[in-house]
Amino acid sequence: MSNLEQTLSIIKPDAVKRNLENEIKEIFRNKDFNIVNEKKIQLSKLEAEEFYKVHETKPFYDDLCAYLSSGPIVVMVLEKENAIVANRELMGATNPKDAKDGTIRKKYGISIDKNSVHGSDSIENAKIEIDFFFKN
Ligand code: UDP
Ligand code: MG
Repeated sequence: MSNLEQTLSIIKPDAVKRNLENEIKEIFRNKDFNIVNEKKIQLSKLEAEEFYKVHETKPFYDDLCAYLSSGPIVVMVLEKENAIVANRELMGATNPKDAKDGTIRKKYGISIDKNSVHGSDSIENAKIEIDFFFKN
């Protein structure tokens, strides 16, 4: 049965700074993700705090939000069969040290905080995150 999904992907500041935007998009396209919406923006610290609200009790929350708002990011809606899980697999583990060969974080991630990409982790969060960036 077909299960076309949309997920939210972010190319984070460390990757945008290193001009990896086109390379990373090419990886998604080669894995049959369609980029159905995209924009390059820079979040304010407050906007980053709202986006990462699920992590507000974590010790890394403040640094995470400062980092996400530290430079331009590329936000994309990716569409594919089972896009949410497929994107999580293609991204690799949160810590690039643990990420498998062939994943984006293995290839480009610098550290657990500068891990180059974000991807929604559930259907519910994909909807919330897509609306966060693309609902007018
Ligand atoms: N993060 C961090 N330190 C940690 C755990 C996470 O800086 O100990 C950052 C990391 O950049 C990660 C983000 O917080 O991508 C969100 O964490 P999550 O557990 O949701 O990982 P993800 O879903 O991005 O793999
Ligand atoms: Mg997450």
